[in-house]
Amino acid sequence: MGIYMLLVAIVPLSIYLILNNIVVSKYFLKVEQESVISKVENANKIFRSEALNLQELAEDNGIWDDFYKKIEEKDIEWFKENYSEWVPDNFSIDLIVIANKNREIIDQYGLKYTNDTELFDDDKINAVLSGKYDKKKNYPSGIKIYNGNLYIIGISPILLSDYEGPSRGIIIFGKEVNTEFLQNIKDKFGYDILFSYRNKLVMNMDISKEIKELSDIIKEVKNQETFELGKSKIVGSISIKDLSDENIGKLYIAESRYIFLHTLGLIHRNAFFIFILSCILSLILSAKLKNIILNPMKGLENEISKIRENNSSIRFKINGPNEFIKFSSSIVESLNQMNHIIYRYKKENKNLRLISNTDGLTSLYNHRYFYECFNEKINSGLKSITVLFCDIDKFKLINDIHGHIVGDMILKEIGNIIKESVEENGLIFRYGGEEFVVMMDNYTAEKSFDIAENIRINIIKSKQIQKYSGDLPVTISIGLSSYPNDSVDAKDLIEKADKAMYFAKQNGRNQCCIYKEEIEKIIMQNCTEFAKKEILIDSAFAISAAIDAKDVYTGKHSELVTRYSLLLAEELELSVQDKYALRIGALLHDCGKIGIPDNIINKPTRLTDEEFNIIKNHTMLGHNIAKHIVKNPVIIACVRNHHERWDGEGYPDGLSDKFIPIHARIVCIADAYHAMISDRPYRKSLSQYEAFEQLRKNKGTQFDPYLVELFIKTVKEDSGV
Ligand code: GH3
Ligand code: MG
Ligand code: MG
Repeated sequence: MGIYMLLVAIVPLSIYLILNNIVVSKYFLKVEQESVISKVENANKIFRSEALNLQELAEDNGIWDDFYKKIEEKDIEWFKENYSEWVPDNFSIDLIVIANKNREIIDQYGLKYTNDTELFDDDKINAVLSGKYDKKKNYPSGIKIYNGNLYIIGISPILLSDYEGPSRGIIIFGKEVNTEFLQNIKDKFGYDILFSYRNKLVMNMDISKEIKELSDIIKEVKNQETFELGKSKIVGSISIKDLSDENIGKLYIAESRYIFLHTLGLIHRNAFFIFILSCILSLILSAKLKNIILNPMKGLENEISKIRENNSSIRFKINGPNEFIKFSSSIVESLNQMNHIIYRYKKENKNLRLISNTDGLTSLYNHRYFYECFNEKINSGLKSITVLFCDIDKFKLINDIHGHIVGDMILKEIGNIIKESVEENGLIFRYGGEEFVVMMDNYTAEKSFDIAENIRINIIKSKQIQKYSGDLPVTISIGLSSYPNDSVDAKDLIEKADKAMYFAKQNGRNQCCIYKEEIEKIIMQNCTEFAKKEILIDSAFAISAAIDAKDVYTGKHSELVTRYSLLLAEELELSVQDKYALRIGALLHDCGKIGIPDNIINKPTRLTDEEFNIIKNHTMLGHNIAKHIVKNPVIIACVRNHHERWDGEGYPDGLSDKFIPIHARIVCIADAYHAMISDRPYRKSLSQYEAFEQLRKNKGTQFDPYLVELFIKTVKEDSGV
């Protein structure tokens, strides 16, 4: 603030100084030039009047009867006595020439030689000598170079006192223009005068100090009327003509620039004082402004910044001097109103954002928000993220069987289970119809795998979900991929997690899989096989539905046997391939019944031995049908041997204990259990407890004893008993 105020003081001051310097210099130079020129003209006039005085003196003496007579008489003694011996001392005359009309010098003073005629070598002097002068005009006077020196001379013819003639000669008075003469003028008029002629300089004493510099400048500025001499003097010049009007040199006057320099100094001094004063005033003003405006403004700014930090609608308060409060009260009121509006908009905006980011069915975040969120996290410098791509298995089937309303309820419930399983460890999005994505910050895929497994298991175990889906188990497949290891782009990362999920589906669903580059190749290789399997499962479903349709009493028997079998398989931790084979085998276990007449299958009374033998045939018939549908011997064996007994008394092959394939042993228990808990025309269904008792009773004879106990445990858990 202080610096700005100083600038405010310095800038106009500098402009003032520069302008003043220019204007003053220019104006003063002009005044000085005019003054020095007028002075040089005055000096010239002094010389002119000096010459006129000499001329008058010559005239006073030369035009006089006695003089007229004495020149005729050539009375040399008289002249000597009255002129050369008397006049120079009394009139400060340096040159006297008195000559008759024959140019004989009668008396002289200051001539180089007594018969010196150099003086007469002049038109004007000659004209006077020869009587050719105009009486009405003044007799000649002016400057003349004689004997290499400069003289001011006045001339008169020698006439009678009444100016009658003829002229008997000439009288010349002269004064030499030398240092003494010029010093005299300086003393009288105050002018520093200088003559330059024929490479000679004559000047007064005072100026002789600068003579060296001046003579150099004179050479340079020949035709300039005025010029500067050093910093302290200005010089004006004028051309000097001699008696015969010929240019013989120049007259210079040197003027002191004292006033100019003094004024300039005064301006600088004043400017300096103004500067110091402005600085002091600026500092005082800035300190005052700080108190009156800046500090209260800062307070106001702090209040305003609270809007950013505080999400509530606060009212600004202002503190400061009264003048500030008065001045800013309307601004503060407007700010308060603005703040209130901003707060309202912020709130509405927040709600809108929430709505636009949320999925209506599950209340989870939506697909659009996933990308916004992901990019925000990356931009804020998050180091690692893992995404879990969760897709419900065979959800279309669930929809087909139970309808979309149940489907929606399952979706909602699965959303809840994912939320419970993930807890605070990640954000959950409903990415697609029946697809969910979990975004986990600072998690590697390996670290996230346990959470993915939790989700999968919790879905299987959720009674709520399994209750909605009836007998069809609801499972989920999950693919995992990580930023930045697998990809740095959100879309690509999701695609990779999707591939991992697809790989899990290819491997029999209901499992989690971490993305690795190798799986892409395997997916490609297995894709035809997978498509076939899909068709097989769908066909097995179709066949099982056809068989179940034949049996009017058991309804969805095959489907439920499959479900119980898979529950046991999960408990036994069978491999993915085994679970897949078991699933198909369980669905197809009764496919041989297609060849058994409906009246035997649906006979309301007990079967005869013969009818029972026909029924027993369904295992072999099933074998024959299954082998046309599948190539997998495990599945075919499951269909053929699901009526073998642990003690070897079963059919069709009479296999015993571990020689019976495990898939067949599992289906055997599930089949018997479901038959027991279903109504038969000739008996009521057993309760679950009674059915378990029956299983236990027959374990080791009909059923695998180990599997029976495990089966009872899992079914009990599943039904929540
Ligand atoms: P899989 O994923 O195991 O290969 O089999 P899928 O049957 O789940 O196959 P896919 O993922 O292709 O099918 C998605 C099905 O999800 C199609 C549609 O019937 C169902 N679906 C999608 N969105 C909704 C929804 O909002 N509500 C309901 N009820 N069903 C939906
Ligand atoms: Mg899907
Ligand atoms: Mg699906």
